[in-house]
Formats: sequence, C-alpha cells, structure tokens
Amino acid sequence: MYWQKELETISRNDLDKLQLERLKNTVNQAKNSPFYASIFKEYSFSADKIRSIEDLWKLPFTTKEDLRSQYPFGMAAIPLQKCVRIHSSSGTTGNPTVVLHSAKDLEEWANQVARCMYMVGIRDTDVFQNTSGYGMFTGGLGFQYGAEKLGALTVPAAAGNTKRQIKFICDFGTTCLHIIPSYATRLAEVFYEMGLDPRKDTKLRTICIGAEPHSEEQRKRIEELLGVKAYNCFGMSEMNGPGVAFECPEQNGLHIWEDYVIAEIIDPETLEPVPEGEVGELVLTTLNREAMPLIRYRTRDLTRFLPGDCPCGRTHRRIDRFKGRSDDMIILKGVNLFPIQIETILMKFKELGSNYLITIDTVGNSDEMLIEVELSDLFTDDYSTLQRLTKEIVRQLKDELLLTPHIKLLAKGSLPTSDGKVVRVKDLRKLS
Ligand code: AMP
Ligand code: ZN
Repeated sequence: MYWQKELETISRNDLDKLQLERLKNTVNQAKNSPFYASIFKEYSFSADKIRSIEDLWKLPFTTKEDLRSQYPFGMAAIPLQKCVRIHSSSGTTGNPTVVLHSAKDLEEWANQVARCMYMVGIRDTDVFQNTSGYGMFTGGLGFQYGAEKLGALTVPAAAGNTKRQIKFICDFGTTCLHIIPSYATRLAEVFYEMGLDPRKDTKLRTICIGAEPHSEEQRKRIEELLGVKAYNCFGMSEMNGPGVAFECPEQNGLHIWEDYVIAEIIDPETLEPVPEGEVGELVLTTLNREAMPLIRYRTRDLTRFLPGDCPCGRTHRRIDRFKGRSDDMIILKGVNLFPIQIETILMKFKELGSNYLITIDTVGNSDEMLIEVELSDLFTDDYSTLQRLTKEIVRQLKDELLLTPHIKLLAKGSLPTSDGKVVRVKDLRKLS
C-alpha cells in the first residue's frame, strides 16, 4: 500500500526533526549559489543558526522574477559540470525560469513520482501511457522516470495525435494515463466519435490529471466518460515538476510530501501566514535538492491546508485543489501565459484600438480562449480586409502563446470601459 511506509506514515514529531535536519543541509547547499550567498550575508543567516523551522521565516521570499533575473545559471549551487539536466516552466514570457538538476536530484524526483503513482495503485504490472510533451516541460520526463522506477511498462506517447493515443491505449492495453484534464475530455470525445467506448473497449482504470486548474465536477465527468479513477497531481517546474503533492485513494485533497518540501500558506497581500485552514498562497522550500535549492519560493497558487488526519494513514498534510492564482497567469490547455503577452501582440497592430477582453470558457469538452478587441476608429469595415487581419493576429498570437485563440474584431466603443482597474480577463471555467 505504501512505496516508503516509514517516510509516508512518519510521526509529526519525527517529520519535524527530519525537516529541520534537511533545512540545515539545504541552507548549507544554497550558500554556494551567488544569489543565496548574498541574501544570507544580508540577513546574517547560516545553517548553524537554525534552531527550529520558524527560523526560516526570517528569510525573504524567492520569486519567479528572481529566477528570471538569475537566468540562466545564477541560481546554481553546484558546478555546472555536476548538473545533468535543465528544465523550464511551460510559459513563454521573457526569460524562462530555468531549473537545474544533478543526477541525485533526478533520482529523488523519480522516487517522489513513483511514490505518488504507487499510492494510487499503479504497479509494475501496469501499462502507463504519458500524454505530456517530452521537452522542457516536466510532465513528460518527470512521469517517465517515475513510472520506470516503479517498474510499469511505459508508453512515452507524448502530446497530441489523439487517434494515435487511442490506438496505443487499445493495442498496448494501457491501464493508466497521465493527461491534462482539458485533454482528457477531448480524448474521451474522440473515443466516442470513433465508435469506441473507453469504459468497455479499453483496460484504462487510473489516470493522473494535473498541470492546470480543474474542478471537482470536471474530475467526475472525466471519470465517468473514461470509466476511470482520476487523481489530482500538482507539480511545478521550480519544484522539480509533477509529484510535489498528489491525491491518495481517498481523493480528499493532495498530500504534500513534507520530507521534500516545507510548505507555508501566506496572505499574498500582507505576506503573513494565514490562519490555519484559510486560503492563501502556497510557499515552498525544497528540502533535498542539491543543484538548485529554493528557499521560500512563492508559487502564486492559491490553496489551503485541509484539517484532520487522512484515513489512508499518511501523515503528510493535505492541500485543497487550487482556487486560482495570486498573479494574473492564465493556464490554458496546460500552457502558462500572461495577459501582457497577448496585449503586446495586439498593440503591434495599428489597426487595433487599445481596448480588449480575454474570455476563457469551456466550450463542449474543450477550454477555449476568445479575444475580443476593438478596432481603431481610423480603420476600414471592409470584410475581406478584416478577415485577413484576423488571420494575421491569430497567427502571431499562436506563435507567441503556442495555442490558438479565437479573435473577434469589434467596432470602437463596443467593450465596456472602466474608471478603475479594467477587467481584461474573464475566466468562466468552473473551478470549485
Ligand atoms: P509548470 O512550471 O509549467 O509546470 O507550471 C506550474 C503551474 O501549473 C503551477 O504553479 C500551477 O499554477 C499549475 N498546476 C500544476 N498542477 C496543477 C493542478 N493539479 N491543479 C491546478 N493547477 C496546477
Ligand atoms: Zn490520504
């Protein structure tokens, strides 16, 4: 039932001790990076001054902007020669956030993912198909190495080509999938279009869904459509990738592996801890990473600790499914993007005015983005010119965002204006 019984069911007291010991190691390791060396100097902080976990609160937060400013290798805490892999976040804004890994880091990460998969009943008798991209995005290689460590027969199908995914699922007897939730519903749709019923015509039984926000309703829908149990998986490239927190068979929140991270939940405005059980921003400190330790990293993801013990016997605390973000990052079809990227492209077109509205909604079984943008008043209403313009806007946005939005050009003055903060993004997907 447990991959590492002792660690997964460790008493809180022993977990506190383990965290303390690992925190000291982390601080010792982090001081080798120029970035943390200067912070520790400024705060006169060192591992030998740490008496309890609370001492960590004396240090400042680390942010995505810090990582960007240190691009590419300013956060490295070991020589590059000892690093064996680079990953980065799925977004495309500015400098990507680079994460370096040593061989030991990769080994630990694979163990973390294997632990999650074992927890939801995946075994070496399973056939595990991974529908994540296998590039810099961590959902590909992260699950690959975890599943191999577990001993499952792995199918690194990678993203896209739905009919081919379905052929593999049928021919290889795939029992488990890793898939982003918006693609899971699309996959089910194609099964039914092909005259196949995934509940009867496949061996699918367990899927791991994550990488983007989704509601309990969406999970239930996926479970019904595919005839599977779907488990929520949280990861982010800055914290390795998938496997940071994962649901157990109770499906009552995600156990966050506290031997790998110290988790805090703070108020994103005051930066103070929120009262136990309230929603705030998740902040994480890595506990056994050597190439690139991160201290008090602001994830920007909003969640809360769930009260009570879990009947599964694991003692690591549970966090709730995400409620959103404390910045304006949008996650669509597993891709991270910021409204400013869209604005930058739109504003390049002199034919366009400066008022626009981005709406994200679930259409059928797929999450779609509609961008309504006003034309500048000098511009034509000639239909074919407008069509050409729309096409060019879509092309440029697709290049930037790696996904295809729908564009609607509107006459000047059509969109509501505001004296205060303009609402640029409406996310109509239901998340809770
Ligand atoms: P990336 O670094 O590209 O893997 O993106 C990480 C971000 O994806 C996280 O900070 C979350 O905002 C989002 N994310 C990952 N897993 C989940 C999940 N299970 N539910 C909701 N959002 C998620
Ligand atoms: Zn549990």
